[in-house]
Amino acid sequence: MALDEEHKASVPDSEINKLAARPRRPLTLADLVKHGKPPLSEEALIASANFTLSLLPARLAHRITALRNLPFIVVSNPSVNKIYNNYLHSLSTLEPFYSREITTIEDEYKFTELMADLVRTHSNTIPVLAKGFLQCRKYVDPVEVTRFLDQHLRARIGTRLVAEQHLALHVASTDHPEEQCDDSHIGVIDTALKPADIVLSCQNFVGEICELKYGVRPSLIINGDPDAEFAHIPMHLEYIITELLKNAFRATIESGNEKHPIEVTIAAAPDVPSTSTKLESLRQLQLSHEKSYDYSLSGLEEYCADPDIVEPLNHVAPSITLRIRDRGGGISPETLPNIWNYSFTTFSNEDAASVDNGNSDGLNALSESGSDQSTIAGLGYGLPLSRAYAEYFGGGIAVQSMHGFGTDVYLSLSGVGKVK
Ligand code: ADP
Ligand code: MG
Repeated sequence: MALDEEHKASVPDSEINKLAARPRRPLTLADLVKHGKPPLSEEALIASANFTLSLLPARLAHRITALRNLPFIVVSNPSVNKIYNNYLHSLSTLEPFYSREITTIEDEYKFTELMADLVRTHSNTIPVLAKGFLQCRKYVDPVEVTRFLDQHLRARIGTRLVAEQHLALHVASTDHPEEQCDDSHIGVIDTALKPADIVLSCQNFVGEICELKYGVRPSLIINGDPDAEFAHIPMHLEYIITELLKNAFRATIESGNEKHPIEVTIAAAPDVPSTSTKLESLRQLQLSHEKSYDYSLSGLEEYCADPDIVEPLNHVAPSITLRIRDRGGGISPETLPNIWNYSFTTFSNEDAASVDNGNSDGLNALSESGSDQSTIAGLGYGLPLSRAYAEYFGGGIAVQSMHGFGTDVYLSLSGVGKVK
């Protein structure tokens, strides 16, 4: 079949089940750098495409099966069903490719276009999913919902990462290959990422949301080691820091304490190697992994970040901790046990209604078109999803509240550090 021929047929159930049953193992940072630093040769780009292709169908099929296994009332909810159909559609668009290997650069281009489409289709689905689960929460066991969402959203992080890494490698290798030499990026990974820079840009963004919603913008100071840098994924750090700052800013404003700046302290573990050592580590990781993979499509494993099968990342050193300290009154003992639950929020819908459109139906923080990133609060996904991102590569988030005073949030992140 011609690859550019529009492919409308859906994937048969037997194929979905076969793909979903492939063995899985977690994705590591080393997997993402093994094709080298852009600009990549045509061969390396083709290899990266085949690597991506070897993972995605099984990962999509596994999500489809998990969605199908939800109680009927959940799967038939229009919002959840929309997500389910996105997955089915994505899998069927990949079908012309996964029966054979990509061997030409022309096919690599076509495959990359498809990847870009796939990433776009799934980019703003969290508010949709949140809305669906909120609508059927009366009918399902909350423990089951939490388990599903945690697994689904963690798997989604990995799937997007695989697709986005290939896209980024392709763009960096084909658009302006001459600009890559001094660049610290390997696809979506920045090997010299400064958390302080991310804090500054997120502060700006969250400050603007606050100004629109409340008419004030709290200030923020950075101390500790603002020059600290490590190898990590800027997109992930942006998500986490945006969510943590939204919480800190909101609490600060709602408690009327905006004269007290939010304090972000950055600490780098003493064993964080210099950038050049880190690049060397990355190269070593690349080399040590090169031989262990077979690029052919048969017998390849699915990499999966389902929490039950994540392996400890022994070769990754814990490297950077950020403490976000606010004077927003802390978290009450009644609220505290719930903060890690998906959909739990103390954000008042009446507030949202009076500011937004005066129409409160309990779901007005969840517009399907609006991004989950652009409202100050209300989805109840900020903390649990940030923790999922942090834990993905061996980090974590801890919340320490002083009720009546303020909150400290500790975000620890592992970069690509020592190679054992
Ligand atoms: P959302 O912000 O949409 O409510 P989150 O998961 O980000 O969802 O936070 C859940 C809840 O935890 C918030 O509604 C709030 O009650 C509480 N919370 C989180 N961070 C803070 C903080 N820094 N100060 C006070 N309360 C907080
Ligand atoms: Mg929040």
